[in-house]
Amino acid sequence: MEECAAAMHTDVQSWLEERGLTANEEAYDYLKVVMACQNAMAEPRVAPAGDFLGYMAMARDIKMNLHSGSVATIAEPGCMAIPQAMEEALNAAGGEIRRSTPVEEIIIEGGKIRGVIIRCRDGGYESIECDTVICNIPPKHIFNVLHPRHFPAGWVDLLQNKFWSAGLLTGYMGLKNNIWEQFGVDERSFIWMPGIIKHEGFIGAVDMVMWSFAACAKRAPEGKRDFCFSTALTDQEMRNPKKVTRVINYCMDWFKKNFKGWEENVEFVIWTPSDEAYGNWRPIGEKRPPLRSPYADGLFFVGDQYGERLWGGGVDGASLCAVMVVDEIMATDLESELFPPYHRGTPKPATNW
Ligand SMILES: Cc1cc2nc3c(=O)[nH]c(=O)nc-3n(C[C@H](O)[C@H](O)[C@H](O)COP(=O)(O)OP(=O)(O)OC[C@H]3O[C@@H](n4cnc5c(N)ncnc54)[C@H](O)[C@@H]3O)c2cc1C
Repeated sequence: MEECAAAMHTDVQSWLEERGLTANEEAYDYLKVVMACQNAMAEPRVAPAGDFLGYMAMARDIKMNLHSGSVATIAEPGCMAIPQAMEEALNAAGGEIRRSTPVEEIIIEGGKIRGVIIRCRDGGYESIECDTVICNIPPKHIFNVLHPRHFPAGWVDLLQNKFWSAGLLTGYMGLKNNIWEQFGVDERSFIWMPGIIKHEGFIGAVDMVMWSFAACAKRAPEGKRDFCFSTALTDQEMRNPKKVTRVINYCMDWFKKNFKGWEENVEFVIWTPSDEAYGNWRPIGEKRPPLRSPYADGLFFVGDQYGERLWGGGVDGASLCAVMVVDEIMATDLESELFPPYHRGTPKPATNW
């Protein structure tokens, strides 16, 4: 994990090239598609190497096995279990959760947090005074509730305009049968097809990842299967209907051509083009925003892309960050108490930039 911190300032492509790992096309494609699957970034030149290496470093410890199924999915009720457990703990401690309550503004005066203004169900507004606010909105969107005048213009520009989002184009399909049987493939496998669409103006080549949830999460009805397809496109690509349609059509044709009896086997198909899936990523060479704002006393940030020792992203990143921000505010070390070493942040922030 020390090496991950040291590699945060460089991109995956340069890291691989420095080690001669791009020479063998098949090996390179494999590494690239593993990266695209974990970080939701198809282009190694835009992916920070340290984040990718974190997943590689912990693979053995978490017993990741991409042939016999290692999808970390919770069938009932899903990742929602995490906030629900937090809600229970907060209520038990005398706290109050207000669901479906948009924050309109976080009030800062004289460089200090004064409170928040929230929108009420009756359409009105309410001010709540406090000296500490933890803002859980992804970096690109914090200025919807924080006035930019309280922050350096360069920092506002960096977050709003230079941070970008890793999107996911996901196809979710209900099937009657196990489609992998006809190829003798263990249905708990991840199936990767790197570079299915090249040289058509996508930021990287389009990589396709398929797997069957039914094999590991048992979400499909008895005897049936659910089949998941995913590809990493950027936020801008995801807002381009031509590009999204091109990938969907390619995949649907590929399924029909390669799986015997596809039409009869399929019960439903849902495609979800999400322009913001795996967090708002910093450009190579920039750090993640810190947990404690240096610009307003009492302002903290939490989420899958905050904190100078955070790596990776997704639900695991967001969960780790939640514990890190509690430690930052309370001067505790819950991170070490709760997480095994491979689920913790990097030992120290990257220093070599
Ligand atoms: C299609 C898709 C597939 C994914 N697959 C995986 C996966 O397989 N594994 C994995 O680990 N991760 C996956 N992710 C990523 C994962 O969901 C995110 O990384 C994670 O949810 C980020 O958590 P967060 O708390 O940082 O931000 P969010 O979950 O985005 O939470 C921010 C919250 O702030 C709320 N908010 C915004 N503005 C306001 C406001 N003004 N007032 C009040 N509330 C506000 C939003 O409604 C939102 O609920 C996937 C994401 C998508 C979209």
